[in-house]
Amino acid sequence: MCGIVGYIGNKKATSLLLDGLKKLEYRGYDSAGFCVLDDNQFCLIKKKGKVSELEAQTQKISIGGSIGIAHTRWATHGAPNEINAHPHLDCTGNIAIVHNGIIENYQALKTALKKEGHKIISQTDSEIIAHLVEKFYQNGNLENAVASTIKCLEGTFGLLVLDKNQAKIVAVKKGSPLLLGIGKKQMFIASDASAVISQTKKIVYLDDNEIVSVTYDGYTIKNLQGQLVDKKIVQLKFTIDQIEKRGFKHFMQKEIFWQPQAIENTLRGRISKNRVKLSLKLNPKEINRIIITACGTSWHSALIGKYLIEKLTGIPTEVDYASEFRYRDPIIKKNDLVIVISQSGETADTLSALKEAKQKGAKTLGIINVVGSTIAREVDSGIYLYAGPEIGVASTKAFTCQVTALILLANYLKSGDKEILAELVKIPQKVSLALKLSGKIRHIAEKFKESKNFLYLGRNVNFPVALEGALKLKEISYIHAEGYPAAEMKHGPIALVDENMPVVFIAPKDNTYLKIISNMEEIKARGGKIIAIVNSTDSKIKNLADYIIKVPKTLDILSPIINVIPLQLLAYHIADLKNLNVDKPRNLAKSVTVE
Ligand code: GLU
Repeated sequence: MCGIVGYIGNKKATSLLLDGLKKLEYRGYDSAGFCVLDDNQFCLIKKKGKVSELEAQTQKISIGGSIGIAHTRWATHGAPNEINAHPHLDCTGNIAIVHNGIIENYQALKTALKKEGHKIISQTDSEIIAHLVEKFYQNGNLENAVASTIKCLEGTFGLLVLDKNQAKIVAVKKGSPLLLGIGKKQMFIASDASAVISQTKKIVYLDDNEIVSVTYDGYTIKNLQGQLVDKKIVQLKFTIDQIEKRGFKHFMQKEIFWQPQAIENTLRGRISKNRVKLSLKLNPKEINRIIITACGTSWHSALIGKYLIEKLTGIPTEVDYASEFRYRDPIIKKNDLVIVISQSGETADTLSALKEAKQKGAKTLGIINVVGSTIAREVDSGIYLYAGPEIGVASTKAFTCQVTALILLANYLKSGDKEILAELVKIPQKVSLALKLSGKIRHIAEKFKESKNFLYLGRNVNFPVALEGALKLKEISYIHAEGYPAAEMKHGPIALVDENMPVVFIAPKDNTYLKIISNMEEIKARGGKIIAIVNSTDSKIKNLADYIIKVPKTLDILSPIINVIPLQLLAYHIADLKNLNVDKPRNLAKSVTVE
C-alpha cells in the first residue's frame, strides 16, 4: 500500500505534490519520489526514507513546472531504496509512472520485456508498467497505450502515467483507490482525498478500468471501449483526519475492518491449481524440525503455526519466545528450520534470535510485513504479508495475515491440501461476515466495560486465539485478562471465577466441542458470565452462555482467523467506550526495537 498523487494546474507542482504526499504518508513511508515536467524536461527526484527527506533534498534546487506525479512507497517488491522508489521511467525517459498495488504477473512480463530489449533497473513489480506503456505507445496516443498496458496486468493497481511530450497525465485503477480532485484552474489525481482536500473539496471517485486523461484544458473519463463515462462530482464534507482513517474513528478499527483485503493481499498470486507458490530457498524434504520464534501477537500466530504445520506436514514444530530462545543456548541441528515472525521486521528480540539461529547453522525463514526491514534482509528466505502499514499499536491485521501466511507455508511444505486451499480463498469473505457482528459486540462491551478481570478459554488451535483475545484486551483497555487452554482452567484459574468474572469461550464445532461445553458448565456452576464465540449453526450453547456471538463456520484449521475477529472487536469497543487512546495505548510502542 502506498500513496500516489498527480497535479496539473497554474501553480508550482512540486510543493503541492509534496504536501499531498505528506497527507498520504500514513499509507506508507519507506521512500518517496516525484517527477515534474519543467521546461519540457523531467525533473525526477527520489529518496529513501520519509517525505520530509525528499522535501529537504528539493529545497536545495529550484524546480519550476506545474505538472507532475509523486509517490510515497510501502514496498511490496524490492527493498526500499532510491532505485526502487517511484516514479519509474521507460527506456526512452519520456514516460514516468507511479503505481500503488501489486502486479502478480510481473516476473513473466519482466522476462518478456527484457527479451524485447527493455532495460529494467529496479526490483519492483511496478517498473514494467512504464516499459509496457512505451511498448504500446503509438502516434502520441497515451490513453490507448495505457489501455493496452492494463490488459496485460494481473493484480491491483492505482496508476498515474506522465508523458513528457504532451504535458498530460493518464490515470487508471483496478482494486486500488484513486480519485480526481477538481479545483480552480488545477486538478489532482490521488489515492485518497486527504492529499487534495486543502485545495479542493470537489471530487470524482474513479471506478475500475476507467481511463482518466488530464491536461491543462480539462479532463475526460472513458471506459475501455473508448466511450465517455459521465461521473458525478461529489462535494466532500470530511476532515483530513476522518479521511486518513477512512471514516473510522481509530486506525485500529480501520485495520480490523480492512482484514478481508489484507488477507486477500497475503494470498494474492500464491495459490494456483491446488498448489502454493512461494519462492523460498529451502527443500521441504530436508527439514527435520521447525522452531518458530517471535514476540507478543506474533508469538500467538507462531503457536497456531505449530498446530498447523504439525498437522499438515508431520514435521515436529516448537515455538519459543524470541527473548527466551536466544538466552537459553538452544539446541540447533543440521536440517532445523528456524522461522521468525515479526510485523515490523525490526523487533529486537526476534532479530537477536534470528542471529543466534544463523550462527548455530539453522536455515531461516521470515514471516514479515515490512518489506526491506532488517529481519527481512537477514533471513535466508521469507514470506511477506503485504498487509499494508499497521498504525494501531495493537496488532490486528498483521495477526490474521501471519496465520494466513503460516497456512500457505504448511501447504507449501507438503503438497497443497485441495480442501484447505479451496476454503482459504473464501476466508476474506467469511471475515467480512464476522465483521458485521461489530454492533452486537459493542452492546456486549457496554455490559462488561467496568469488569476488572476477564478469562479467555479455547482449545486446540483456538487456544492461542484465547491468548490473543486476552492480550488485545490488556493492551488497549488496561483490563487484566488471561488466556488459557480451556481444560487447564480447572488447574488454577477456576478459583478466580465468581459472578464478576466474564469468561470468553471460543467454542467452534470441532473435535473438542463437547469438552468445551463441559468447561462452560463448570464456569456456569460458579456463577461466571459466559460470552461464547460459536459457529452460526450452533444451537446448544445458547442455553449455557449469557451472550452468544455466531461466526461463519470454516475448517477447524482455519478457524483462528475467523474466531479472533470478535475478540479484536470486543477489546476495541471496550477501550473505545472507556474513552482510552486506542491507537496509542500507554507504555506501548508499535515496534519494539529494544531488548
Ligand atoms: N508494488 C509496488 C512497490 O513495491 C507498489 C507498492 C504499494 O503500492 O504498496 O513498489
